[in-house]
Amino acid sequence: MMYPFIRPACPDHLTECWEALGLRYEAAKKANPKYKFYWFTTFRYEETRELLLAMTKTHCAFCDGGDLGAMSRETLEHFRPKSRPEFHRLAYQWENLYPCCDRCQSEKHEQYDDALLIADAVGYAFEDYFIADYSTGEILPNPLASAVNQSRADKTIELYGLNIDVRKTIRKKELKHYLQRNPDTSILDDFSYRYFLLDAS
Ligand SMILES: [Zn+2]
Repeated sequence: MMYPFIRPACPDHLTECWEALGLRYEAAKKANPKYKFYWFTTFRYEETRELLLAMTKTHCAFCDGGDLGAMSRETLEHFRPKSRPEFHRLAYQWENLYPCCDRCQSEKHEQYDDALLIADAVGYAFEDYFIADYSTGEILPNPLASAVNQSRADKTIELYGLNIDVRKTIRKKELKHYLQRNPDTSILDDFSYRYFLLDAS
């Protein structure tokens, strides 16, 4: 989450099949709660994953950790968890799928809350919800934001474990590297946690 990106239109192959696949999954789950989810052939996993990774420039959609290919199993995350009966039919929906790092996935598990922020929401801006604390490596709810926005920021930080120790450490490291970069060769997209670096330069 955190660093805004724009979602391209749903690819044709998915427009044609996502609803039917979701209904199929919903029915199978109802018949057998132990039914195991998988990506059907018509979903074209590899192709769909490539499109989603291009959308975020291979960053995690939630924490903005970069270079997902190298650092992670490149999981696709269901924003609205497919394990919940009310979301079964969204299991293959383009708008419900995000590139996600292993850490975000294991922090969030099957949790979901309507207050959760997502970075491709229309009008989403980091500073409307968060501030960066450069001394600790944390991100915090923006004290100047509305109460509603601050509480959404809190919820999002909590559910994705955005301030767990390892992340604070990596943000500080990333900031140090960013400040030492060669401005002619390095671009922001090469770094993790871009929202954290933007105003630090
Ligand atoms: Zn992540």
